[in-house]
Amino acid sequence: MNQFEQEALAYHAAAPAGKVALQITKDVNTAADLALAYSPGVAVPCLAIRDNPEAALKYTAKGNLVAVITNGTAVLGLGDIGALAAKPVMEGKAVLFKKFANIDAVDLEIDERDPDKLVEIIAALHPSFGGINLEDIKAPECFEIERRLNERLPIPVFHDDQHGTAIVVGAGLLNALALTGRQASDIRVVCSGAGAAAMACLEMLVQLGVRREQIYVCDSKGLLTTRRSLSAEKEVWAQDTELHTLAQAIVGADVFLGLSGPGVLTQTDVMQMADEPIIFTLANPEPELRPELVREVAPRAIIATGRSDYPNQINNALCFPYLFRAALDCGARTINQAMKLACVRAIAELARNSPEFGPGAIVPELLDPRLLATVCPAVVAAARASGVAHR
Ligand code: NAP
Ligand code: MG
Repeated sequence: MNQFEQEALAYHAAAPAGKVALQITKDVNTAADLALAYSPGVAVPCLAIRDNPEAALKYTAKGNLVAVITNGTAVLGLGDIGALAAKPVMEGKAVLFKKFANIDAVDLEIDERDPDKLVEIIAALHPSFGGINLEDIKAPECFEIERRLNERLPIPVFHDDQHGTAIVVGAGLLNALALTGRQASDIRVVCSGAGAAAMACLEMLVQLGVRREQIYVCDSKGLLTTRRSLSAEKEVWAQDTELHTLAQAIVGADVFLGLSGPGVLTQTDVMQMADEPIIFTLANPEPELRPELVREVAPRAIIATGRSDYPNQINNALCFPYLFRAALDCGARTINQAMKLACVRAIAELARNSPEFGPGAIVPELLDPRLLATVCPAVVAAARASGVAHR
């Protein structure tokens, strides 16, 4: 084990074990306090909520409480490691919610792989929470699980691996386009990966003005074409073309979006791209091609990765804490497309308003203190304008 790995274990093991704990927010020092906090006083808000469910927001922590829910089937880049082993990640997510947006989050690791049962379990849990962040649930089940929960529940349900990624990718891409003098409607994109993150990112690119017919997508078997037999999700992106491979599709492309695995992009591929290519190699922890190797053959490329040790980290924490903060604050029953787009534009604009803005700073710093104050109001305004805000 290297020194960093040892440090990581020691960090988590330091007493009290783990990264989160519960805090009491009312006085419980006297017998009188206890009579208010629990029986008999607690019965009064119970009855108020029975008569008016909205009162739960006034008398309980529900309105500032998000569940971070996984079944452990697609954890980070580690894969299907199971619910229990996913717990450090979900606790970490709770830490980010609290640190960046003062949202209390509870991690729930659910040992259930069957999508139907998982939907039932999560639906049954929903009264406790103001919102649900689905996390690290594998594709393609994640699409259906999120869709069904969103249809059913009166609170926002958001699969961060899909939409959080799409929002930050969208923000980074808008700025990369601006820096290279491109219009979204003119670019050609090649995407490697057709999983949870890629599917949401591609929909986002279309929302931002990229033309569908200019998007070429590869999975582990090659280019998605109308000649292949594909799942419904992938079929949407099939091109009617004789091409078969990434190497063929990438000739002249403006943008490479990697959401697949290590080593998928070659220097030869990069050399085939348009001048000043935009190259997002987001496979984690090992990107599709290391930035230094991209740079060797395309010195003016704008490069982003998912890693913190290179410039332009596409990190979902730039988005999800603020998106949920906004949704909770305005009582949004869902996180809709208008809110996601507002989030994209607010994050992009924040980066543009930084002195560091340029090819090596297309997204804000993770610890940029302006994020809360700029992203949240933009998302709230979009929620109100699109009619999903209820407070
Ligand atoms: P996923 O749902 O498992 O999807 C992976 C996709 O990559 C699948 O479509 C798979 O093809 C494809 N793939 C695998 N090997 C490939 C290859 N050699 N060539 C072309 N395509 C290949 O995973 P995900 O959640 O979307 O995440 C994908 C990657 O992006 C992971 O490395 C993840 O860590 C990273 N990611 C980064 C960020 C970030 O930087 N913020 C956010 C999200 C995800 P098949 O469909 O044929 O299996
Ligand atoms: Mg995740």
